[in-house]
Amino acid sequence: MSAPGTVYLVGAGPGDPGLLTARALDLIARADVILHDRLVPADALGGARTGAEVVDVGKVGGGEQVPQEETTRLLVERALAGRDVVRLKGGDPFVFGRGGEEAQACRAAGVPFEVVPGVTAGVAAPAYAGIPVTQRGVASAVAFVTGHEDAVKPETAIDWAALARFPGTLVFYMGVRRLERIAERLVACGRDGDEPAAVVERGTLPGQRTVRAPLRELPAAAAAAGVRAPAITLVGPVAALHDELGWLEARPLAGRTIAVTRARAQASALAGRLRELGAEVVEAPAIRIEPLEAEIPVLAAYDLLCVTSPNGAHELMRRVRDARALAGPRIAVIGPGTARALREHGIEPDVVPARSVAESLVEALAGVPVRRALIARAEEARDVLPDALGVRGAEVDVLSLYRTVAEPLADGARAAALGAEYATFTSASSARFFHAAAGTLAGPRLVSIGPATSAALRELGFEPAVEAADHTPDGLVAALLADASGAARG
Ligand code: SAH
Repeated sequence: MSAPGTVYLVGAGPGDPGLLTARALDLIARADVILHDRLVPADALGGARTGAEVVDVGKVGGGEQVPQEETTRLLVERALAGRDVVRLKGGDPFVFGRGGEEAQACRAAGVPFEVVPGVTAGVAAPAYAGIPVTQRGVASAVAFVTGHEDAVKPETAIDWAALARFPGTLVFYMGVRRLERIAERLVACGRDGDEPAAVVERGTLPGQRTVRAPLRELPAAAAAAGVRAPAITLVGPVAALHDELGWLEARPLAGRTIAVTRARAQASALAGRLRELGAEVVEAPAIRIEPLEAEIPVLAAYDLLCVTSPNGAHELMRRVRDARALAGPRIAVIGPGTARALREHGIEPDVVPARSVAESLVEALAGVPVRRALIARAEEARDVLPDALGVRGAEVDVLSLYRTVAEPLADGARAAALGAEYATFTSASSARFFHAAAGTLAGPRLVSIGPATSAALRELGFEPAVEAADHTPDGLVAALLADASGAARG
C-alpha cells in the first residue's frame, strides 16, 4: 500500500474571503480532496484545481449535517488512499470546529496531519463591528463560550456561575435562539443586567449587522431586529465601544446593494472599490469581450494612432510584437484607463483629453495636423471620431480589435441585480446587453458613466438617475457616492 496523504485541518476564516490565510489558499490550490463546511467563504473554493474532489459536509440551513463520524471516516479513508485532503472549516479549526476530534482520528489511523489556524469569528465579527475583545483598563481577559452544547451533554455543562463572575469579555458562539436563555442565566447568576452587550450577525460578510443593548434587553432587541445565524454575542463593557468605533457600518455605501454589469474581466476593480466603500456588490455581467482576428497594419504609415478604450489598448499591444512599431505616429487616447493600459506596455500617450468621450478627443486634436489616422477600437464603437477626422480631410482607417458580445446572466443574477438599489453601466453596450438579458431595467437607480451610455439607456426607455461628470470608473463611483449621500436610504 502506498504512503497515506496528509490531512490539513484548515481554517477558512469568518466569511470575508480576504481573511483566508495565504497558507489556506495555497493548500486549497494543491489539494486532491477538499471537505468543506457550509460556512466557508463562497470564493474560497474557486482556487481548487480542476479534478479535485470537493465535498460539502456542511449543515443545511442549521439542520441536518453530514454526521461527524461520516466526515471523519471520509477524511481518513481519502488520506489512506494516498490523497492530500484539505478539511476546510469556518473560522479556526480548533475553536468550536471539532478539529481536535478529527486530528485524533487521523492520529489513530496513522494519517499525518497539519493544522492551519484561521481567523475565528469570535474575534473577527467583533473587530468588524468595532469591538476590541480586550481593552486596557476595560477587559483583560476573554472567554470563548459555545451556545450549542454537544447534543448528548446536558446544557448545565456550562458553568453559568463561573461565567457570570468571569472578569472579562464573554464571547458566545451560538444559535440566536439561545440568546434569551444565556442572558437569563447570566443575570440570574449575578452578572449585571445593565452591562453592555452586542450581537454581531453575519460578521465580516455582506450585510453584517450589530445590535447593541444592555445584557438584560439584548434578547428582545435582537428578536426585534430579526437577527439570525450566524451570529456572535458579546457581553462586557467593550461592547459599548461599537458606538464609538463601529467603522464598518460607518462606511459611505454601507447597507447599499449595487449591481455591476460590466464584463467579468473588468468588473473586479470597480466591484472592489464599491465593496471597500461598504457596498454589497452584485456582479451581473451581461457582456464579454471577444477579440477579433485583426492584422496590425504598418503603423509607421500613420501620423496619428487613436486608442479609445482600455480593452483596445490591451488588444492592440497583445498583437504588437515589437514596441518600435509604435515609434512613428502620435498617440491619442480616450480615458485615463486607456492611458494607464498603454503605460503598462511602456507607451506614453501624447494626447489624453480632459473628458473621456470621443467628442472631447476631437476637440483636443483640433490643432494637431493629421494626414492619416488609425483608430484602434471596438467593432461597435460610435463613428464620432473617424467622421470628425474625415471631415478635417484626414484619411482614416478603423481597426476593429474586439467586439462585446452577450453573456447570459447567471442564475439569480438577474433578480439580484434588478433588486439592487443601484445598477451601474460603464458603456452603452453593457446597458444594451444587460437590458436584453434581463428584459428590463426597471427597479434600481441607473448610474451611467457618461453621455453615450446615458443615451443608450434612454433609447431603451429608462432615464439614468445619475450620470458621472468624469467619464471613468472612478468618476462613476464619485457620482454614485454623491447620490447615495443625498438620496434618502431606501
Ligand atoms: N470554528 C468557527 C466556529 C464554528 S461554530 C470559528 O472559529 O469561527 C459556528 C458558530 O460560529 C456560529 O454559530 C456563529 O456563532 C459563529 N460564526 C461563524 N461565522 C460567523 C460570522 N461570519 N459571523 C458571526 N458569527 C459567526
